[in-house]
Amino acid sequence: MTQAETGTNVIVLGAGAAGLMCALEAGRRGRRVRVLELNDKPGKKILISGGGRCNFTNLNVRPECYLSANPHFCKSALSRYTAADFIALLQKHGVAFHEKKLGQLFCDGSARQIVDLLLAECQKVGVRIQLGERVQLIRSEGVRHFVVQSSGGTFTAQSVVVATGGLSVPTIGISALGYDLARQFGVGLQPTRAGLVPFTLTPTDLQRFALLSGVSAACEVSTARQMFAENLLLTHRGLSGPAILQLSSYWQAGEAISVNWLPGTEFEEFFAMAQRTRPEQEFKTWVGETLPKRLVPMLVGENVGRQRLKSFSARQICQIGKQLQEWTIIPAGTEGYRTAEVTVGGVDCDALSPQTMECRKVPGLYFIGEVVDVTGWLGGYNFQWAWSSGWAAGQSA
Ligand SMILES: Cc1cc2nc3c(=O)[nH]c(=O)nc-3n(C[C@H](O)[C@H](O)[C@H](O)COP(=O)(O)OP(=O)(O)OC[C@H]3O[C@@H](n4cnc5c(N)ncnc54)[C@H](O)[C@@H]3O)c2cc1C
Repeated sequence: MTQAETGTNVIVLGAGAAGLMCALEAGRRGRRVRVLELNDKPGKKILISGGGRCNFTNLNVRPECYLSANPHFCKSALSRYTAADFIALLQKHGVAFHEKKLGQLFCDGSARQIVDLLLAECQKVGVRIQLGERVQLIRSEGVRHFVVQSSGGTFTAQSVVVATGGLSVPTIGISALGYDLARQFGVGLQPTRAGLVPFTLTPTDLQRFALLSGVSAACEVSTARQMFAENLLLTHRGLSGPAILQLSSYWQAGEAISVNWLPGTEFEEFFAMAQRTRPEQEFKTWVGETLPKRLVPMLVGENVGRQRLKSFSARQICQIGKQLQEWTIIPAGTEGYRTAEVTVGGVDCDALSPQTMECRKVPGLYFIGEVVDVTGWLGGYNFQWAWSSGWAAGQSA
């Protein structure tokens, strides 16, 4: 197609969670909306999320559960379109769901139900979704007049909403277009990195833990700035599990992480009681009632593991307490975007209106969802940001 297609008010780039929500809301307002999506299917990340059941929101959403260079930015959108609003949408479509743990809501059936309901809502208000359209560039030809060029044609609109997502899981079709557009239009960017991602270890540490692959324990993991209490999983590649994924979003390269393998325990008191009640027991048998047995030699050494409880000195108890409750390790790095759930960083919030997601300097240009420098915790927080920011832009674009 050589001639620009007209008649569209709003072009949304990307038919993911944020883009579809924005499109249906703008459509409800009577705007003529066209969504351009590079994949051959809409909502691919929704489909693969939450093990195919999509952890679509969280009952405990609050601004503190989001990382951003501007921690206040997310407040307006999150308070205007809440978890309850998305739940109401699901209920309207008869989609059954359940809470798994920690406020995390999943579909009883399949993530496909979420994509289907978003598409049904889009269809109802006449949103046009074009698949297999890789958007290549955008030109601004005056105020609120954009020309969008994609692999399938050239389109014009008064508003362009960039909902192109982040850089994680490159195998499902992603692009850096959102970040390139920010640069092109003079919108600031916060440095990007992989988040909600497993840690890798040095070859020496990997060898030390080689026999522990598959061991999982409830613990507290922390850096100087953040702590998470959840499960940690040792794998043949390094450290994973929800506690580690959460911490990874806050971790800076080269930083040590600390693990408390006995959370909520006053170790010296706990030990003193065991010394009184079972003095002949070996340390590994006693502590193995609380911790996975295979972990004990790695944490305290074989010899200490075999020592009888009665033989520990006060000094040794204090030292073992530190080994179990302040165990530290320096990850070699992360597995990167290949396995990350999200991209931390992105379009600088200070360049956008928190009410509408519109660029302060470029009227008619909006950024929503993961491409923006707002990253949620594990557990449905990222989809809630996509719904809330998409909804906010949909009221304005
Ligand atoms: C494996 C996995 C599991 C996850 N599970 C959960 C979960 O259970 N709960 C949760 O809250 N979060 C989860 N997330 C995170 C969540 O999927 C994202 O935060 C969310 O999808 C972001 O929505 P978005 O609309 O901003 O981006 P996306 O959903 O990524 O959508 C962006 C869309 O833009 C399209 N696009 C990109 N470039 C172009 C271009 N040049 N032209 C046209 N189209 C383009 C893409 O193809 C894509 O469809 C998971 C992520 C992964 C990778």
